[in-house]
Amino acid sequence: SEAVSRGATRRPRLTVLSGPSGVGKSTVVAHMRKVHPEVWLSVSATTRSPRPGERDGVQYHFVRDDEFDKLVANGELLEWAEFAGNRYGTPRRAVLERLAAGVPVLLEIDLQGARQVREAMPEAQLVFLAPPGWDELVRRLTGRGTEPPEVIERRLEAARVELAAEEEFDTTLVNTSVEDVARELLALMQVD
Ligand code: 5GP
Repeated sequence: SEAVSRGATRRPRLTVLSGPSGVGKSTVVAHMRKVHPEVWLSVSATTRSPRPGERDGVQYHFVRDDEFDKLVANGELLEWAEFAGNRYGTPRRAVLERLAAGVPVLLEIDLQGARQVREAMPEAQLVFLAPPGWDELVRRLTGRGTEPPEVIERRLEAARVELAAEEEFDTTLVNTSVEDVARELLALMQVD
């Protein structure tokens, strides 16, 4: 029926925002939260130490190594990954409960985590945040430069890995301005 189909299109999907490290994901998310607090941002568990100003249960659930082990062993994480020597993971139950209640849910996670969400929840929407000047970076790296060939090669390899990741995503947003990206992300999440 009409009501059912309308309901189906309005059912919020899980949206994953990911991208190369340092691209500005958390800035975009912080801006979005301010403008649209009705979007629920998953609070990850992490083994890293809080930075000044970070509070337990707000930016992250800060846990010990053995506590993280237990979350993994009990299957309580939707996905998890090691990043720069620390572990990060998305608590599964909170995400599923919000989605079931009709709340739009956003995950801000690294590329490895995004791949796991793709596997666990194929209906999730994966959004890749790309740095502006990405093409330019690759052109520069492949062009003749002043750096030793092995350095160029290593950087190019890193760029290739991240470029390849982009192809696995449903949508790419270029981070030209925080406001624009936040607006585009909200449109993708059908939040108005
Ligand atoms: P930071 O330590 O700077 O807060 O985060 C480091 C990286 O971990 C960022 O790329 C961030 O997106 C990612 N991250 C944060 N939470 C999670 C998570 O629950 N799972 C995964 N896979 N990555 C996460």
